[in-house]
Amino acid sequence: MKQNKVILVSIDGMRADAFAACGHPLVEYLCKNASYTLDGRSVIPPVTLPAHLSIFYSVPPQRHGTLNNTYVSPVRPFDGLIETIKHAGKTSAAFFTWEPLRDITRPDMLTYSEFAFAYSMESADTYLTDRAMTCLRERKPDFLFLHLVETDEKGGHDHGWMSGEYFDRIKIALDNLERIIREFGDEYAIILTADHGGHDRIHGMDIPEDMVIPMCFLGDAFEGGKTLDGVSLLDLAPTIATIMGLSAVREWEGKSLI
Ligand SMILES: [Zn+2]
Repeated sequence: MKQNKVILVSIDGMRADAFAACGHPLVEYLCKNASYTLDGRSVIPPVTLPAHLSIFYSVPPQRHGTLNNTYVSPVRPFDGLIETIKHAGKTSAAFFTWEPLRDITRPDMLTYSEFAFAYSMESADTYLTDRAMTCLRERKPDFLFLHLVETDEKGGHDHGWMSGEYFDRIKIALDNLERIIREFGDEYAIILTADHGGHDRIHGMDIPEDMVIPMCFLGDAFEGGKTLDGVSLLDLAPTIATIMGLSAVREWEGKSLI
């Protein structure tokens, strides 16, 4: 059966060169079985809330209006990915380890959602992955978004980008993604992205360390081992909509990769 359901996993703050160098076996698996890029682009500024709004609304921060981690409602609102899924009568779920991501959609649009605070336990990433997998098993949403923040918070900001602790958190995040692929990879197209990279203990600048991210597209709509050029966060919503059989919203600026 052709896949028409999607899981999107965002590993917060994961640089493309760190993904390539981390040594986790899933990296080789994805480079062989997914269409992918190690030269994907974040948005300016490469900061968590603006970047995730650009993922879900397919426009740069200058157009959605949130230019830092404080949400600003847009002057001219339009539907993003979650609203489009809802209006099509399909179901969506969001699991996030950073609470401001509630603003990736307007209220009353998600079917299921859960938040766990990154510092509330040894690994909120792993806890939330467990919760997301339970939702996938029991509720079978048409779309599920899983946000894993600890690479950014407990790796990059606490210890520095490219530090040992940073790589440790990437490996935990990829362990979690691997569990999802193993159990749900037949039923769902699975997309991996980061929102931005980082340098020293910060991010937010228009430099390659902050801007260049890995993006992997695994599923029957994507050719395994194919490298993609010119992909940005804005392309995620149109691509996901295409897999799900939905039309892109007129205001979206990104392109479908299918
Ligand atoms: Zn981030």
